[in-house]
Amino acid sequence: MTREPMNSLVLIVEDEAALVTLLRYNLEKEGYRVAEASDGEEALAVAAETPPDLVLLDWMLPVMSGIEVCRQMRRKPRTRDIPILMLTARSEEGDKVRGLNTGADDFMTKPFSVPELIARVRALLRRTQPVQNKGELTYSDVVLDMDAHRVTRNGRSIHLGPTEFRLLQYLMQHTGLVFSREELLNAVWGPDIYVEPRTVDVHVRRLRKALNGDNEADLIRTVRAAGYAIDVEGIV
Ligand code: CA
Repeated sequence: MTREPMNSLVLIVEDEAALVTLLRYNLEKEGYRVAEASDGEEALAVAAETPPDLVLLDWMLPVMSGIEVCRQMRRKPRTRDIPILMLTARSEEGDKVRGLNTGADDFMTKPFSVPELIARVRALLRRTQPVQNKGELTYSDVVLDMDAHRVTRNGRSIHLGPTEFRLLQYLMQHTGLVFSREELLNAVWGPDIYVEPRTVDVHVRRLRKALNGDNEADLIRTVRAAGYAIDVEGIV
């Protein structure tokens, strides 16, 4: 069963009133509910009170930067699983990677096309909808519970963001196969979304960091010039 994420609540965090109006109009036209915050502190307060299904987060905000909002949301149990799409006027690759490393799930540079933004919102929400009765996947000492959206390694609970969860799920459904960055983008992000292949590297790095404890084998194999696979030479 696929449930279109209609009526999902989107929190717009942006200090430019004209942009808020444009985003609100277009999101509501698509059937989403919209909440607003015009600075970072307000964003954290609104998100804590009524956790949204997704946050559109501007990088340049008064009082507290979007990056700091993102970091704080990821620290709190109530808001840490909410997908975050960062908006920025900056276009440098380094900023993008920094944004993703802070815990954002996707990134768009202003000026952006509204249809593309809506497509990304939809894809992010689809990725984070709970899937019913899919069961568990096990690989080595990792167990991924697709119903509860929980991952454990060696009995230890592993916290993953929505994108890392999907990435791990996809790799665990196809253990031993090597996927190119483009294949992973299609499978995990969706074919209608344009994301740079480097983004995959950022999420794989985050997944590895969360998954691999001290003295534990790295289960994700980087295949030079080809892509990624889940397996380890020592285990297979
Ligand atoms: Ca701004």
